[in-house]
Amino acid sequence: MAQSVPAQPALYSASGKPPSLNGGRCRKCGYVFFPPQHYGCESCGAPGEELEAVVLPGRGKLHSFATVHLHQGKGIEAPFTVGVILLDDGPAIRSILTTRTGEGLRAGDRMSATMAAQGSDEQGREVMELRFEKSAR
Ligand SMILES: [Zn+2]
Repeated sequence: MAQSVPAQPALYSASGKPPSLNGGRCRKCGYVFFPPQHYGCESCGAPGEELEAVVLPGRGKLHSFATVHLHQGKGIEAPFTVGVILLDDGPAIRSILTTRTGEGLRAGDRMSATMAAQGSDEQGREVMELRFEKSAR
């Protein structure tokens, strides 16, 4: 079987079950955020030195979602569904969902991260991207 690689390894860890996201936390006020950045705290204004890396489990609740039917960009074929997920650890993130049409989804559904194949790179390796799917709990 061909080797697989995560598309954006700086943003998440593909090995966990479910995969986890690489976020950040302010030591001064406790504000948790995603994606990671080193400029300073968006909440209290503390400098970048006060920010630390934190692992955010890929679990949360579906806040809202929308299905895209017409899309000109490359790399993804319409229809596809984008959701806003409120992670259990605080931050809200926007992610493409595994369901193409959003059928059966409701705001408030429990969601978990998963890795989905998104084609292959120049070396023939399978490229995996983080997605969210409805979970049982
Ligand atoms: Zn802060």
